[in-house]
Amino acid sequence: MEILTYPDAHLKQQCAPVETFDNELRQFVTELEAFMRTQPGGIGIAAPQVGRAERVCIIDLTGMTRGKKKRPVPNQGRLILLNPEITEWDGYELGREGCMSVPDYTGNVIRATRINFTADDAFGKQHEYTSEGFEARAIQHEVDHLDGLLFLDRLVSRRTDLFQRK
Ligand SMILES: [Zn+2]
Repeated sequence: MEILTYPDAHLKQQCAPVETFDNELRQFVTELEAFMRTQPGGIGIAAPQVGRAERVCIIDLTGMTRGKKKRPVPNQGRLILLNPEITEWDGYELGREGCMSVPDYTGNVIRATRINFTADDAFGKQHEYTSEGFEARAIQHEVDHLDGLLFLDRLVSRRTDLFQRK
């Protein structure tokens, strides 16, 4: 696997729902997660970032800290999300995001502070979730990938909200 980066056309596609929950899919999910963990800052990944236009993403904020005080980011551990659908959005907040597909930049993006969502697991069983704070932000970022959107598409202004990485 390798990470596709902006402006690769695969990142602009609307991804298809997962319909077949078979061993091939589970093998892909396993490989995608292992690959994510080899990447610096690999706290989330979506299938289109490796060229597979299917609604699969993985998020794991375990051990992640933010800010100068290195505060742990509250999270519910490893989330394997197939066909995720956000059903409720509450509040909003501007916050900084990065993306493995946009390696040279970070950006300030407005996201809901709390979301409810559903997703299938790798066996096709649907689950309901609530998430808030940075984890909710990460989920909204990954679900965007499944709709062909990057954080770049969410910036209010490239002039004031886009930052080159040092
Ligand atoms: Zn991303």
